[in-house]
Amino acid sequence: MSAAATAAASDSFAGRLLAWFDVHGRHGLPWQAPRTAYRVWLSEVMLQQTQVATVIPYFERFVARFPDFTSLAAADIDEVLALWAGLGYYARGRNLHAAAKQVVSLHRGDMPDDIEAAQALPGVGRSTAAAILAQAYGSRHAILDGNVKRVLARHAAIPGWPGEPKVAAKLWMVSERHLPQTRLADYTQAIMDLGATLCSARQPSCERCPVAADCAASLAGRIDEFPASKPAKARPLRRQQLLVVEDAEGAILIERRPPAGIWGGLWCLPVAAEGEAIDELLRAAHGIEIEQLETLPSFRHAFTHFELELQPQRCRLRAEATAAMALRERPEQRWLNMRRDPLPGLPAPVLQFLNTRLRADDDPCPEPSTASSSARKPKASTAPRSPASSARSSTSKSPRKPGPAGSRTRPA
Ligand code: SF4
Repeated sequence: MSAAATAAASDSFAGRLLAWFDVHGRHGLPWQAPRTAYRVWLSEVMLQQTQVATVIPYFERFVARFPDFTSLAAADIDEVLALWAGLGYYARGRNLHAAAKQVVSLHRGDMPDDIEAAQALPGVGRSTAAAILAQAYGSRHAILDGNVKRVLARHAAIPGWPGEPKVAAKLWMVSERHLPQTRLADYTQAIMDLGATLCSARQPSCERCPVAADCAASLAGRIDEFPASKPAKARPLRRQQLLVVEDAEGAILIERRPPAGIWGGLWCLPVAAEGEAIDELLRAAHGIEIEQLETLPSFRHAFTHFELELQPQRCRLRAEATAAMALRERPEQRWLNMRRDPLPGLPAPVLQFLNTRLRADDDPCPEPSTASSSARKPKASTAPRSPASSARSSTSKSPRKPGPAGSRTRPA
């Protein structure tokens, strides 16, 4: 290479990044020495949704027990998953085992050096395959994990959400354009390190960044705009009836929800589909005859993927004895007197409804005792309780709500 070409290379995006990496990059990670294809693959799969510091002890235990593809392929899946436990997303652990078997059966026990063959392994997508081959074999492939998307979107000021195919295509193009001719393993590690350390999602350290001189987002003071966030999608609305079945003493009927689905395993008021005949449902499912039906104002609760509108229907028993007898045989149903009984785990919005909107119709409600508080103080406290304090309390005891899956920083 001529002197001019050498100078141009060292001035390039990759050249500056490599010079920075030599001094400030993450060296000494356990999968870097020895940097075998097996160890690189294992680390890349583990890092797909997990931070480096968390992965290191798992990686070390894993390679101590399964040092290569052959030993992993021969292992019992239960042992593999036991070593994986704590890294989450068990599908990745199962894919790991399946990929090892595939490597043994199709590729003579070692990672293929062909990008398409590597990408065909379970749990290995385009970016992971490229990262493995670049680091293990020095192959010239571009990567585009979550951190790299952020660096490139900012450096080239690429608008749009990277999940959009058009935006992703631009990012892949830029990633390929920056690839150096040599030191592919180091370059791959370097760009991942830049995204994980200096070009962080919040408050990047541009003053120390090796590519700040031509970073379009930084120069324009528009870092916060890149990469664009995922466009908010309107959540579909589902409607259900919430059945408030009360006996003469004000106890309400609750039942345990099935283990799968929303509020799985929690106690809750019975629900019915929108428009379903409640009297028939209660007679068939609970042996209950109701004598009064009152529709209360509806309320909504937002889940990750949909919004639930609950339409409370207040029912009073026609024959309490009938209901009590019918329920005696059903362990997953019970009567709850909120003035007297310890509260079981109820969904937060349902508890809030019971404490505020339902009781607003009644006399002031004494503070309901809870399973934990009942051990410390008399069950039936006489202290009056405001709706606001009830709501706070319900939040602190609120059961688990479905939440977003852990954000992936390293796509498969
Ligand atoms: S200058 Fe700042 S925003 Fe641009 S790549 Fe570097 S750290 Fe990221």
